[in-house]
Amino acid sequence: MSRISIAAAKAQGSGKVEITGFVQNIRLMKGLAFLDLRDLGGNMQLVIEESSDADIYARTQTINLESIISVSGELKEKPAKKNDPNPVKDYEMLVSELNILSLAEANLPIPVLTKIDNEANLENRLDWRWLDLRRSEHRQIFQVWTKLEEGFRAQLLAEDFMQIYTPCLMSTASETGAEVFTVKYFDTKAYLSQSPQFYKQMAIASGFEKVFMTGPVFRAEASFTSRHVTEFTGWDFEFAYINSHTDIMDLEERVLINAFKKVKELNIEVEIPVSPFPRLSLAEVKAKLKAIGIISEKDHDLSPEEEREICRLIKEEQGHDFIFVTDYPIAARPFYHMRHEGDQNLTKSFDLLYRGIEITTGAQREHRLDVLKKQALDKGMNLEELEDYLNFFRYACPPHGGVGIGPARIIMKILNIDNIKEVCFLPRDVKRLRP
Ligand code: ATP
Repeated sequence: MSRISIAAAKAQGSGKVEITGFVQNIRLMKGLAFLDLRDLGGNMQLVIEESSDADIYARTQTINLESIISVSGELKEKPAKKNDPNPVKDYEMLVSELNILSLAEANLPIPVLTKIDNEANLENRLDWRWLDLRRSEHRQIFQVWTKLEEGFRAQLLAEDFMQIYTPCLMSTASETGAEVFTVKYFDTKAYLSQSPQFYKQMAIASGFEKVFMTGPVFRAEASFTSRHVTEFTGWDFEFAYINSHTDIMDLEERVLINAFKKVKELNIEVEIPVSPFPRLSLAEVKAKLKAIGIISEKDHDLSPEEEREICRLIKEEQGHDFIFVTDYPIAARPFYHMRHEGDQNLTKSFDLLYRGIEITTGAQREHRLDVLKKQALDKGMNLEELEDYLNFFRYACPPHGGVGIGPARIIMKILNIDNIKEVCFLPRDVKRLRP
């Protein structure tokens, strides 16, 4: 006999089947044992009678919670609970064969079945992450990841983008020089990339026209917030022959709408955004916030409180969960963001906010070498250290732009989870490098 899933067994409803999974509940009585078996798609009550098989009944007594067993037996309809006004048809198994495939130690460090979802024990849960992820609602986080990425990728492929893989080990820091991890690299040192920025631009200089990538990004920020980790998955795309940053926002809308549509296939509550997303310049956002008495800490950027408040306002006014904030001053942006022709203090850049949090930074890039060099010098950067990057532009590079997206933050918000660490499979933060 070969294993079938619990869902398939329930669909079958009768006959003899073999199922396998984790034992999530054990009730021992005189001459009778009830086990609850769980696999990926469901759970089933197992009935073990001493009178039918004394040996199996004796073995049942040695099983600890979360052990993995394989059982065979006859399926039968489960008797409805007494006084249940809406009994749902369900099945149980009368066990005739039982094998312990992997015995769990007694005394689980964290419970798998009972709810322990409050923030206070998140660290404890993360210490035992593989047990924490045995719960279906935690596993669902990664089903959302898979769907969201499926939609992201499908839209870009439909628009003829090509996927590339860029190195994480770099000889220079990719952007500002701050916030990078240094690693010993043979007899020299290397840095872990804080974004694929320079390399995706190289692909544009290579004439690739449209590229995207998904991969790890590293930030050596000692931040203890609920939205920063030190290693995260970044989604990036970059494309050529754009007219301005608005082309990039248009594409990101299409990509996100498709990604949310895919998530919706999971039957979870999620609002698929509609195009166009609201677009406001940073100056307009600041004016709106001022009007409701929110004091700005910095005039060139948004604080977390300002991000939350502007999202709340836009939701109230326009019913939209997304907002593009555009035209950041040069002080808030890296040297390679293109400046507006009419106002050299403003960049052709944007952030995308979703339900109170920044999920994307994007911009048209400066592709003219002389202007790029000047902008780098304005920011006090060393042109020699940037030589490899600047070389990308020496033999012509098309006008282009793109985005860096943080999918973990999107998933946090879709699932109403407070801490980014919870949506990372194995989060890395200032204090956590294990398991
Ligand atoms: P923030 O201002 O929130 O620190 P950032 O401006 O440093 O973010 P970018 O460098 O523009 O972020 O990165 C692009 C996207 O990557 C962000 O919009 C965000 O979604 C995500 N991101 C950035 N830093 C982190 C981090 N430490 N952990 C998780 N995601 C991040």
